Amino acid sequence: MKRTIFLKVFGGFFLVILVFTCFLLLFSHSTIKNFYLDTLSHDLVNLGEALKLIVVPYLENDRKEDLDVFVKKFGADINTRITIVDLDGVVLADSDEDPELMNNHKFRPEIATAYRGRTGKSLRFSNTVGAEMLYIGLPVKRNGQLSEVLRISLYVEDIDRLYSGLMLNIRRIIIILSVLSLAGAFLFSRTLTQPIKKMKLASEKIASGNFDARVSLRNRDELKDLADGLNSMTDRIQSMFDEMSRQKEELNSVLSSIADGLLAIDNQGKIMFSNKIFQEIFRVEQPDGKFYWEAIRDREFNEFIKDVQQERKNKTKEIGRYGQLFLCRAVLLSSREEIVISMHDLTELRRMEKIKKDFISNVSHELRTPLTAIKGYVETLKDEIAKDSQKYLDVIDRHTDRLINIVKDLLLLSELEEVETKLEFEQIDCNRMIESILKIFDQRIKQKGLSVKVHADSEFPRIQGDPFRLEQMFINILDNAVKYTEKGTIEIFLKRENVKSVSIAIQDTGIGIPKDHLPRIFERFYVVDKSRSRKLGGTGLGLSIVKHISLLHNGKVSVESTIRKGTKFTVVLPVKTPH
Ligand code: ADP
Repeated sequence: MKRTIFLKVFGGFFLVILVFTCFLLLFSHSTIKNFYLDTLSHDLVNLGEALKLIVVPYLENDRKEDLDVFVKKFGADINTRITIVDLDGVVLADSDEDPELMNNHKFRPEIATAYRGRTGKSLRFSNTVGAEMLYIGLPVKRNGQLSEVLRISLYVEDIDRLYSGLMLNIRRIIIILSVLSLAGAFLFSRTLTQPIKKMKLASEKIASGNFDARVSLRNRDELKDLADGLNSMTDRIQSMFDEMSRQKEELNSVLSSIADGLLAIDNQGKIMFSNKIFQEIFRVEQPDGKFYWEAIRDREFNEFIKDVQQERKNKTKEIGRYGQLFLCRAVLLSSREEIVISMHDLTELRRMEKIKKDFISNVSHELRTPLTAIKGYVETLKDEIAKDSQKYLDVIDRHTDRLINIVKDLLLLSELEEVETKLEFEQIDCNRMIESILKIFDQRIKQKGLSVKVHADSEFPRIQGDPFRLEQMFINILDNAVKYTEKGTIEIFLKRENVKSVSIAIQDTGIGIPKDHLPRIFERFYVVDKSRSRKLGGTGLGLSIVKHISLLHNGKVSVESTIRKGTKFTVVLPVKTPH
């Protein structure tokens, strides 16, 4: 059973009243009896003192028989035993017995005390009458001299009869008082616990979300303060709750209006939130609260989430769905192990990119034939035209070459960017490849007076790659090295990095690249010095091609450069390319 405050308070009172009542009933008996006997003794003493006035004349006149008659009559009238004893203990008169037949009373305690001039008192069993009695012995004086003892006694039986009547009344009073106290305790306990009960009910309502619950008390005590506190706390919670609901609604409407699909998953894999766009992408209805693998029937997407959970890091992946392409970004909130995934539609962007690429590729294709024709005719014209007009033809020739180079590079880039670009993989001896490429630049190197050194690790392995593309890549890097170096050395380092990869670095002592340009040199058409690049026949596409080819081989290209000191391009390639 629940031990309510009411039960505790009322139970406490009940226990105290019960103990108190038992205590009263137990001890009142002896206390009241003693008190009663004391009062009775006192009354008997008073009675004795009055009797002495009557008895003394009988004694002075030596009228013992008359005295005996008197005490017998008087004793019977007041229902009290009266005895007169002389100083030797001889009974002179007795209201209940024949004095002649009675024992010597000298050593009765009340009489012995009275012989010493004091009032004697004794409660004991009388052999003479065969019952328990209360005795009072009073010294009788004649002419100031102790002459006899007057003894007055009462049957205890009579005393008890009187006393039990009194006790009955006292018990009744105690019981009535106890019942009244209990009733009072009951009312008090109820009054005390009623407000607590009200507050309990109100707090239960609040806990279940009913913020209209209030407690009104008429008390003017601490409980009233507590109820007021509870009410103001409820007001505050209600306003906070309203504010939270408003913010949640706002957040929901913001999240729903976002053009990207959004999904939030808890650490168990349950969907906490998904917006409308997300539901449309996966064609699911009300997935919130379900496990993602139950709600979303897409193996690729579910594996993506699993990877994020297992690898415990943010991830990005492109996922196709019903002909659309999405960029999925998963963010792991590591503190709570929750995952938030956004899905951005790339379809339109990719379409535009494709249109752009197709356009470039088509234009390049269309330009190639007329440009070749122009180049051919310029060559022919050069032989036929007068010497002073040659310089014009030289300009046309140079620009045509530049255009042909740009078109060639653009076509190469478009080809590399094709999704389905297939590489023709072979085992390649990089040492030999570099040597054969260097032959192409032999003449230019000699013209410029540069020296070339190749440093190759003895155990440099053959690597897997597309020889045509890799050749193109190294030609572009070496072409730049020769182009942008006026004097000094071009060094080529072939190193085995580890079991899985190799690096090929081409270092020159040329003009170098300013630091702030370094991050951008792999972008298309990005050149550091436009006029110099143009003069040297550059297109600004060479390094973009390098980057593309290295990526197609799962490799990496990096650059270090110090202005006026030189530049170093390093290509790291895997020994075996997974394809
Ligand atoms: P370009 O056809 O103009 O050489 P690239 O894409 O090959 O175009 O190079 C981009 C730019 O990077 C060049 O214009 C040049 O400024 C700089 N560059 C590339 N290689 C070197 C090098 N070895 N030394 C100095 N500058 C270089």
